[in-house]
Amino acid sequence: MALMRSMLLAASQNVWLREHAVNYPFVRKSVSRFMPGETLDAALGAAQALLEKKIGSVFTHLGENVADRNEAHKVAEHYGEVLNRIHELNLPTEVSVKLTQLGLDLSPDFCFGNLEQILQRENGKSIVWVDIEASNYVDVTIEIYRRALAKYQNVGLCLQAYLYRTKKDLADLLPMRPSIRLVKGAYKEPASIAYPKKQDVDANYFALAQEMLRAKAAGQCVRAAFGTHDVALIRRLSDYVSQQGFAKGDFEVQMLYGIQRAEQERLANAGHRSIVLVAYGSYWYPWFVRRLAERPANLWFMLRNVFGS
Ligand SMILES: Cc1cc2nc3c(=O)[nH]c(=O)nc-3n(C[C@H](O)[C@H](O)[C@H](O)COP(=O)(O)OP(=O)(O)OC[C@H]3O[C@@H](n4cnc5c(N)ncnc54)[C@H](O)[C@@H]3O)c2cc1C
Repeated sequence: MALMRSMLLAASQNVWLREHAVNYPFVRKSVSRFMPGETLDAALGAAQALLEKKIGSVFTHLGENVADRNEAHKVAEHYGEVLNRIHELNLPTEVSVKLTQLGLDLSPDFCFGNLEQILQRENGKSIVWVDIEASNYVDVTIEIYRRALAKYQNVGLCLQAYLYRTKKDLADLLPMRPSIRLVKGAYKEPASIAYPKKQDVDANYFALAQEMLRAKAAGQCVRAAFGTHDVALIRRLSDYVSQQGFAKGDFEVQMLYGIQRAEQERLANAGHRSIVLVAYGSYWYPWFVRRLAERPANLWFMLRNVFGS
């Protein structure tokens, strides 16, 4: 399983595969399980359908490592248009951005300017989430996040439970009243910086999540969101939430579109904050292969599409 995960994560970085695999009908059919379509309209349609089930949404326009200033600037403009459409339709949808898509590889200042443009377009009530990428970007992402949070309250950051450093990163951020989305982590990282065993990642996730909930109760964490599909972990956390006497609506779980749909609905019906991250756009290959690596059984699903298409 670990070998398969490593191979898939290596494949997610392969340029030849990125350019060719996306043209195969069975690959395109498989990706449709994780995204409603490539267009913003498809994402808006999905958000409306989710809202009927009392499920909120976060949009992400797929793309990463943009190396051209114009292109990175266009991404920021695109998110501005997305926020306009969301506001026009009165949807409670937020957005989540990748800093490397906003030009982080070109310059942190340029990237900050693009992030700031998006933050200024948001009306202040909703959070603009910042994704966290591979470990070589963590320091600079946190630096940009701190700079943004010092000026704008409505910015949130994703942190990864597989990194040893995250306990300290969280503790250092709490005095600034951040919004945090905790995930396990989706990249290939060495054992020198990340827990190699799943049970240790899960244990660290639970410990960090408890710290986030306590910080939320103390008014130190504006939003404490848990980005996971791990139902056993979600049950342990919701038990902790009720033992500690938190309001049900204070427990927020974010999942990816198409994964654990029944659990998304169960959480919403139980009065918790259930949110689905809806990805769209044409640059889906690396993102999709990371989804395969999270659950290699998804490969069988893809292979079934070879014969079905
Ligand atoms: C809202 C959200 C935002 C995220 N943002 C980031 C980010 O910014 N940076 C980052 O590094 N990572 C991000 N991730 C990905 C995250 O790091 C994990 O790789 C991913 O969530 C899988 O871990 P898990 O917590 O679901 O637990 P796991 O233990 O991996 O999975 C638990 C169970 O969930 C189901 N499951 C998990 N993944 C899949 C899948 N792909 N397909 C089908 N079933 C699946 C399976 O039933 C599995 O047994 C995000 C995830 C979510 C939900």
